[in-house]
Amino acid sequence: MNALAETAELRNDLDLPAKDARHVLHPWADLQALGSDRPVVMNSAKGVRVKDSEGTTYLDAIGGMWCMTVGYGCEELADAIGDQARQMAYYTSFGDVSNEPAAQLAEKLAELSPGDLNRVHFTTGGSTAVESAVRIAHYYFAAQGKPEKRHVLSRVNAYHGGTYLTQSLSGKAADKTHFHYETEFIHHLSSPGHDPDRDPLSAEARLTELLDEMEAEIQRLGPENVACFVAEPILASGGVLTPPKGYQKATLELCRKHGILYVSDEVVTGFGRLGHFFASEARFGIVPDMIITAKGITSGYQPLGAVLVSDRIAETISKAAPSEKPVFSNGFTYSGHPVACAAALTNIKIMTRDDICGHVRDVGPYFMARLRELLDSPIVYTVRGDHLMACVECWTGEEAGPNDKNMALAARVDAYCQEAGLLVRPYENLCILSPPLVISRDDIDEIVGIMGSALTRAAADLEAGRL
Ligand code: PMP
Repeated sequence: MNALAETAELRNDLDLPAKDARHVLHPWADLQALGSDRPVVMNSAKGVRVKDSEGTTYLDAIGGMWCMTVGYGCEELADAIGDQARQMAYYTSFGDVSNEPAAQLAEKLAELSPGDLNRVHFTTGGSTAVESAVRIAHYYFAAQGKPEKRHVLSRVNAYHGGTYLTQSLSGKAADKTHFHYETEFIHHLSSPGHDPDRDPLSAEARLTELLDEMEAEIQRLGPENVACFVAEPILASGGVLTPPKGYQKATLELCRKHGILYVSDEVVTGFGRLGHFFASEARFGIVPDMIITAKGITSGYQPLGAVLVSDRIAETISKAAPSEKPVFSNGFTYSGHPVACAAALTNIKIMTRDDICGHVRDVGPYFMARLRELLDSPIVYTVRGDHLMACVECWTGEEAGPNDKNMALAARVDAYCQEAGLLVRPYENLCILSPPLVISRDDIDEIVGIMGSALTRAAADLEAGRL
């Protein structure tokens, strides 16, 4: 059988969900359902829509997994990937070896990023980038003869990845129940989200509380022992939590005061989701010491991550490394992968040419305003978000939060959305939305329409005791 016929046979294989159920251990899988849960097998996509192996089409309001920017089925991106794969599919970038797309992309990222973040360390995705940033912070202080300055501040509800260290850094309670992660040098401050509709404290009072806590924690550890603060500008996977106004700037100032590096995790907020290539400076007025990027950098077409590092850090670790023959012993086989870097370059070209960030600044407020109409539903506790990252929080009207009843309700809403051809991301009692950035006003109307009907059906189930 030739390769084309083989691919066609695979595509027609109706038993794919069964094969998957038998053999794949999925990330964040429900372990109790392992082997019995038949997954939806996605196999084609165009624009903002994806199609499964049984022919059902969905509007993808998840955007893959926060990563889709230019839309599915972009020929220009596919060509860039194919061309680079034909020219040179792979070569290492260890030591003093590079490749054309990696060098060009590094220059482009330095140009797009704020301040003096001119040095790029490529990784394979977000987790490896966050993990590398912590190691760079450790290098930075070790190079100055301060190896004890290695403690790291994170926050409850943060999500920074799925590797051992980044899971330790993450602060989502649900992910911590089955395994014990080492947190000897990692410390979690309170979740910084402030919901103006529901929080009993004013934004100002909440900000003061958060800053007092951070200062107290730094003093408890000793500023001379704290290396860095790792923070998403808006917490994404933890439930789209926006800190009170001024938080990012004030926490950066606290870091500066105590000689602590500020690592801004822009894996979700970067590459247009908030209307800018990087949100740190454009939206929150901060120039961090390092920025983490991944996901939208290639529009999800290839796996890639990067740590953008300040000149000051790069110079310090190069001039005063801890041993006589210093080596930066961090990196991956696929760091600076030429095909992934070619995808990122073309993605940036398309995003710039089509002003996708401008489009997000235009439709983002419309998206949020339309979603807020769902607050009329008795089972919506709150709707929160910013531009194209949002969530709808469900409740039965009794106690708010991720309890069993509220989670079952959100799962029902999610199931009704899926039945009607809309994918939203279920997480605890939330329906999370992060559509492809090329979403139109009509698509947004469709999302809100389907969600409205799903909420009405779920509310009727609740009323009739069918949950
Ligand atoms: N940081 C943030 C803020 C993320 O949302 C994610 C992924 N959702 C990561 C890091 C980890 O990225 P990856 O899954 O590419 O390793």
